[in-house]
Amino acid sequence: MSDDFVNASDTGEIPSFNGDAKAKATDFAQYFCSYAQLYHQKQMLADHNRMAAYHSAIVGNANVFKDKVVMDVGTGSGILAVWAAQAGARKVYAVEYTDMAKHAEKVMVANGVQDIVTVIQGAVEEIELPMEEDSLTPNDGDNPTQVVDIIISEWMGYFLLRESMLDSLIRARDKFLKPKAGLMFPSHTTMYFAPVTDENERKASAQDYGNAMCDWHEFAEGTKNTYGVDMSILEADFNREQKEYYMLSSRWSELTSDAVLGEPSIIKHLDMATCTIEDSRGVSKDAKDSKFEFTVDGSSANGPISGFSGWFTADFKSRTDVDGLGAAPVISYPAFLSTGPENGYTHWGQQTFYNPSPIPLLRGETTKIVGYVEMMRTKENSRLYNCRITHSITRRNTDAGEDGQVLHASHENSVIYQIP
Ligand code: SAH
Repeated sequence: MSDDFVNASDTGEIPSFNGDAKAKATDFAQYFCSYAQLYHQKQMLADHNRMAAYHSAIVGNANVFKDKVVMDVGTGSGILAVWAAQAGARKVYAVEYTDMAKHAEKVMVANGVQDIVTVIQGAVEEIELPMEEDSLTPNDGDNPTQVVDIIISEWMGYFLLRESMLDSLIRARDKFLKPKAGLMFPSHTTMYFAPVTDENERKASAQDYGNAMCDWHEFAEGTKNTYGVDMSILEADFNREQKEYYMLSSRWSELTSDAVLGEPSIIKHLDMATCTIEDSRGVSKDAKDSKFEFTVDGSSANGPISGFSGWFTADFKSRTDVDGLGAAPVISYPAFLSTGPENGYTHWGQQTFYNPSPIPLLRGETTKIVGYVEMMRTKENSRLYNCRITHSITRRNTDAGEDGQVLHASHENSVIYQIP
């Protein structure tokens, strides 16, 4: 997996942008297909933290939506587009790739907003707006299609970037949003990372891995005895496969605040008005925020450290970039969504990266963990990411402070995880 990790970002385009027919068909089977199911849309609609944040962001800022042209990138069942219409938008374009668009159309009629909302089925990278039909005045800047006042979208995946839908959002922004006066909802997103304790899950994964290998031995022995074929040549490959699955994959978790052992560290912050396709590719070692440093007091924290966990937050607030300040409408009632352990259930949960063995915390001693996170698209699937976490640990007597004698210093430890 190591070489793949290093090379992964070189060819990381998602197929909805310039993909050939075969790439698009694979992308549909691997990614879009589930969004065409009401079952999957309902899971998102039943996530109350998600719903409440978008609802207050849109309906709570009706003064900003009034008479505006809005685009919902990836409308799914259409909920955000309905809210935008209810908030007083003049025109809403609800763009959806899958056949969910047909359900969305029914939702518009059932809620009496079909004259305001136009559902457009297609990839947002490929669609055109009915500019003439809707009497939209072309933008007099370089790009006449930049006619949209507000882009709303729920594009975020596990640990923010998974699914790579951010690429589609950025391309929609650059093509359709008014560059200075336009608003992005959410307006800013932030990735967090923290050391956590969660021994039950860590042990369960290690145990499942152990059981899988135990089962292999029984199977190989049985195949040899019963059917006369020796399969033991495949043991190393089976072992690698199972290890990647159980030990080297992050897990969806719903942690509580007390599982978090250090002040969460920001590893990436995106201003949605200015972020780039390169930002969407992942987190590189040289990135401004990729480094972390955690200090955990063994006397007060409830250890051991089982691993690290990552999550994100989203803000719906005024523009903060130079172009937008003063030109874009001010958001008087900012909204906020957190998928962190302090906020309870969201369907995103947190992604936890378990250490192969726990890091002990000792009374009277302070443990310092220093390292960095890298995140790259996988070579096989540009909507998935690998995460490399590199860290080293030192322990000191808490009373001796930051400059006290080092009681223990670990080697640098680097593990690559896939985010399934
Ligand atoms: N807005 C809805 C659904 C969010 S899920 C809600 O908040 O409940 C994201 C949706 O975006 C999915 O339905 C998916 O099919 C759609 N989508 C993803 N990439 C897209 C693209 N490039 N063009 C159009 N739709 C896209």
